[in-house]
Amino acid sequence: MNILLLGPPGAGKGTQATLLCQRLQLQHLSTGDMLRQAIREKTPWGRQAASAMERGDLAGDEIVLGLVQERLASSPSGAGHLLDGFPRNLAQAKALQDCGLSIDAVVELVVAEDVLVDRISGRRVHPKSGRVYHVRLQPPAREGHDDLTCEPLVQRPDDQPRAVRERLQVYAAQTRPLTAHYRQRLPGRVVQLDGGGTPLAVHEQLLAALGRIASTADA
Ligand code: ADP
Repeated sequence: MNILLLGPPGAGKGTQATLLCQRLQLQHLSTGDMLRQAIREKTPWGRQAASAMERGDLAGDEIVLGLVQERLASSPSGAGHLLDGFPRNLAQAKALQDCGLSIDAVVELVVAEDVLVDRISGRRVHPKSGRVYHVRLQPPAREGHDDLTCEPLVQRPDDQPRAVRERLQVYAAQTRPLTAHYRQRLPGRVVQLDGGGTPLAVHEQLLAALGRIASTADA
């Protein structure tokens, strides 16, 4: 099963993707994580993507597609994938179609903008592991430090207020239209879910929605 997770920054895609991949044994393909790793490792793609990403703009399609193709090529054969943060515009959606990866379900997480801004502005991350905290909603045991390694937590550069505004605009202009695109292309396989609940509550709703999609697709 290949699942595509859509939603604005702060909607909880990464959290839900992690829970779902554990539950359904899927390969987690997060282009945001792949780009951050490329930037940390100072690869040529990472260097090219860094400034656009810090501003809150999209990284170039060729870079993202290159990273995705590399990752798909190294996936175990027959594995299902959870696409998190990709595709992010129509050009990427068309390129994905050309890769021949069939999409079984598309889930859009919907969250009110003030909640998104609150979640993002309080988000702190442990860069090496990608573990995510929130200063108020999910604080670490020791303020400003990762629970497992005790290393310092940081705020992502693109979680600064200016970049957040840009990311929300980019989402509305370029990514949001993908829901309509997939509704047309994959009728009955697209759901919108309220992402405003607790991570576990959203996870349960997500599983139920996937169950419904699978049963109507089989019927
Ligand atoms: P969020 O969804 O919360 O913005 P991500 O970690 O998915 O967080 O993405 C962070 C940034 O990485 C984006 O703002 C963008 O600059 C870049 N990025 C991630 N995925 C893509 C993509 N498919 N195409 C272009 N840029 C991307």
